[in-house]
Amino acid sequence: MSDLAENTENNIPNLRLNDGNQIPQLGFGVFKVADEIAEQVVTDALHTGYRHIDTAMIYKNEEAVGRAINSSAIPREELFITTKLWNTDQGADTAIPAFEASLERLGLDYVDLYLIHWPGNDSERYLRSWEKLEEIKESGRARSIGVSNFRIRDIENLAAAGLTVPAVNQIELHPAFQQHELRTFQEPRGIRTEAWGPLGQNKYDLRTLDGIEGIAEKHGKSIQQVIIRWHLQSGVILFPKSSTRERIEENFNVFDFELDADDLGTFAGFDRGQRVGSNPDDVDF
Ligand code: NAD
Repeated sequence: MSDLAENTENNIPNLRLNDGNQIPQLGFGVFKVADEIAEQVVTDALHTGYRHIDTAMIYKNEEAVGRAINSSAIPREELFITTKLWNTDQGADTAIPAFEASLERLGLDYVDLYLIHWPGNDSERYLRSWEKLEEIKESGRARSIGVSNFRIRDIENLAAAGLTVPAVNQIELHPAFQQHELRTFQEPRGIRTEAWGPLGQNKYDLRTLDGIEGIAEKHGKSIQQVIIRWHLQSGVILFPKSSTRERIEENFNVFDFELDADDLGTFAGFDRGQRVGSNPDDVDF
């Protein structure tokens, strides 16, 4: 898989997906951005230069995200919009109507990426859902399709059923939870890793990562900026979330420095297998 494809005007690298499409490596996530403020927050992100927005039906802000997109003057082809199929909408009869409802709320003709949000423990159900995502891709209404929170066995189940290899798997990933096993499994299969909770969702004190303050000081950057940089240099796609303009800009301002081999070595030592979100084994429905 070819790696870094090209730099866009706003400096964000594009990565090539296994279906030939490109994805901006740094985007903006809107989990827990309340519907009332989401239009303004996404507008701020677009002004800052973000072109990739990650939402989901269950975030209950697709309409506001859509308003921000559609009222911006940015040509649709310059944007990369992801949304997700919620758990209770999985299944052969429900997946396509749920997708169409998301498109409607977003006010879009197509999304760039559509994901199955969680696998659950019924593999038959997600296999049937995945077949529907394949149909959606064929129709052109989702340019790429992928999964989220899938475990190695779930990806193996898709392959065993002879189905399309997902373009991405969106998984919890941050310095204290680096997911080496899953990433090592995905890489040779051409499945890109997207990191959710890339800053640990503010659920642990980032200063407990021993040595991170020194790295931030050395580069004259914040701890969050050096973490974002670490993800980028690891080849991971990420979309940190913030509702404040200052932080939205701070998280974007990460293309004027580079972590060196010492820094990356220190980061490798931060992994302590610490989840901050749900274990996919426990999300059943
Ligand atoms: P995150 O790691 O991006 O953390 C967000 C929190 O970090 C914010 O609430 C804010 O308090 C803090 N923060 C952000 N920038 C900061 C800065 N510069 N300085 C100080 N604090 C800062 O967590 P997230 O929002 O859960 O993850 C990012 C995106 O991933 C989500 O918005 C969503 O799009 C996606 N996501 C997907 C799943 C999934 O199951 N697929 C689950 C969770 C999140």
